[in-house]
Amino acid sequence: MKNFIFLGPPGSGKGTQAKLLAEKLKAIYFGTGDLMREEAKLGTEFGKKFQDVWNQGKGGLVEDSLVETFVESKLKELDFEKRVIFDGFPRTIDQAKLLEKYIKSNDLEVYNIEVSPQSLVQRATTRRICPKCDKIFFRADLSGVKQCSVCGTDLVQRQEDTEEIVKKRIEVYDLQTKPLIEYYKEKNILINIDGEPPIEEVTKEIDKKING
Ligand code: AMP
Repeated sequence: MKNFIFLGPPGSGKGTQAKLLAEKLKAIYFGTGDLMREEAKLGTEFGKKFQDVWNQGKGGLVEDSLVETFVESKLKELDFEKRVIFDGFPRTIDQAKLLEKYIKSNDLEVYNIEVSPQSLVQRATTRRICPKCDKIFFRADLSGVKQCSVCGTDLVQRQEDTEEIVKKRIEVYDLQTKPLIEYYKEKNILINIDGEPPIEEVTKEIDKKING
């Protein structure tokens, strides 16, 4: 059974697609961004270290050694009898090698969501999230949506979604994560997806590739 990795720059929609697919396939969703934010909310030792990186406001990644200790503790809890969908992990070649200790590359398929830098900045800066239930509201800033439709909480802009930080995150992505595209291409497990169209169309394209 294939496990999936969603790869793509910040704001490419990879998280949305990964969650939709996990729901559809009744697979395990493994998103390191969400897992890290949860730790930060709980104020654990890991969480404090993650928050320190975010507070620097440079859009940087958490350093590999810390990610690896954290992720490994979570990977050990996973039920590999079930399909796993990875979102935001791996983000470096070293992390990809760590994952291979748990899942062989021929049991992986990598969906690389491609979106232009201009669209990325626009998407990230107009989305808002509910601080209580983590629901994401796309284009909220443009459509005037200010409260969560689920729990009524006032929406907020994620620290990392401001224009300045998004641009830095794209630079970080280009430097540290983009090399994974070549890495997985060489292994013949990379599938490119045009991430520019609306969410439902991207979902359809992914479905076609999975079933094809
Ligand atoms: P995300 O929600 O996936 O965009 O992640 C938000 C932030 O969490 C990133 O900008 C990084 O600082 C950190 N992060 C999440 N996953 C990783 C990872 N695999 N390696 C390093 N840092 C990560």
